Amino acid sequence: MSITRSTRILPLLSLLLFASTAIARAQQPNWAEVEEETMRHFQAILRLDTSNPPGNESIVVDYLKSTLEREGIETKVFANDPKRANLIARLRGNGKKRPILIMGHTDVVTVDPTKWKHPPFSATREGGYVYGRGAVDDKDNVVACLMVMLLLKRAQTPLDRDVIFLAEASEEGGGANDGIEFMLNQHLAEIDAEYCLAEGGGVVRTGGKIQYAGVATTEKIPQGARLVARGISGHGSVPLRSNAIVHLAQAVAKVAAWRTPMRLNETTRAYFERLAKLSSAEAAARYNSLLQPDKSDEAQEYLAGNEPRMYSMLRTSISPNIIKGGYRSNVIPSEAEATLDIRALPDEDMEWFFKEMKQIIDDPAVEIVRNRNGRPGTPPSRLDTEAFRSIEEANKRIYNVPTLPTMLTGATDMAQLRAKGIQCYGIGPMTDSEDGPKGFGAHSDQERILEESLQKFVRFHWEIVVKLAQTVSQ
Ligand SMILES: [Zn+2]
Repeated sequence: MSITRSTRILPLLSLLLFASTAIARAQQPNWAEVEEETMRHFQAILRLDTSNPPGNESIVVDYLKSTLEREGIETKVFANDPKRANLIARLRGNGKKRPILIMGHTDVVTVDPTKWKHPPFSATREGGYVYGRGAVDDKDNVVACLMVMLLLKRAQTPLDRDVIFLAEASEEGGGANDGIEFMLNQHLAEIDAEYCLAEGGGVVRTGGKIQYAGVATTEKIPQGARLVARGISGHGSVPLRSNAIVHLAQAVAKVAAWRTPMRLNETTRAYFERLAKLSSAEAAARYNSLLQPDKSDEAQEYLAGNEPRMYSMLRTSISPNIIKGGYRSNVIPSEAEATLDIRALPDEDMEWFFKEMKQIIDDPAVEIVRNRNGRPGTPPSRLDTEAFRSIEEANKRIYNVPTLPTMLTGATDMAQLRAKGIQCYGIGPMTDSEDGPKGFGAHSDQERILEESLQKFVRFHWEIVVKLAQTVSQ
């Protein structure tokens, strides 16, 4: 009552602000109950073996479908291969804004069970962690999306836009026609959205202290190639100048030593600017100098030796990863080849790049054979959107840390979605930076997630989606 009286004298705007805060507070779920339920679903999903290959993602789809439908949430299943289904669930909004797509992939990379302390599909809880293949890649995102859908539905949250959940198959390679490609080519209308939230980011904790939250706003584009050297075969007792192995070795050394041009985009510029503000004076000077590329030689050299991931964020990178040639010690082979893993900046001009590489190799005996590229290069998702602002706010509120937009050096399915004009942001739970090197990260010998971190991630995810989709009362 006294509250009502005092609001009467406030200007209209303050009244509305007050009212919306009150609504937000009133609609907070009972988090203790939510945590118990999250853990139950998470363990159940981790226990479903969706190692890719073969994937067999439909077992997770069945679980999600029955869980969602039990609460009256509309779902659809799309499959090219019946064992590798994709699930869509949709909560309908009033259509005032375009939809938001939230997604996670249901397949996981394969395991070597002998390397695991706890069986890889046991979802064992120990010491504050949950162990299991997929714990941080990507069943954490899958369960967060599931919980967000359930919470919105139960609260009957009025929505200004549809919230679409996509549990996709076949992200970890293989089955190109089963996962995101299949959905985009055959069922685009089901997932078309203004924004999307997917894997690829995360909150970084080092030495027990939370440092920053990374949000993936762009990624490098895989652009492989092979170098094939050809010469004359002969007897090993008579060395030849045309030896294919020698020519190949020289070509590999040249491309590895090539410092490709450095270039920043909106994301990487903001990343280094913001990282500098969080860093020691010495590191800050280094990051700041990158903002003036012509004065950054020393910093680049340092990163190449000490921070190779950051160095890779500056340029199109080349890593020679397979080398093949010869079959007998006394035979000079007529052919030898090396496979290059090339990760291009999103705006790289590949015609120029390979022309330049040819000049650098400068050897007519070496041919560059380009791979067919499956992922498109697109501009970074924007930093001036309602979605990015909402993510920044949620990071501040939940972890009290700044948000750094990041460019992934690896590839995700967000590339294809960005190519359709969807602004995609990669998010993820908090991890200790020490945990990966210990062998517990994504794709590692073992995989685990902090229970506390999973629970906070669900909350974080929910806050962003509520902020972006909930009807704003006028
Ligand atoms: Zn993944």
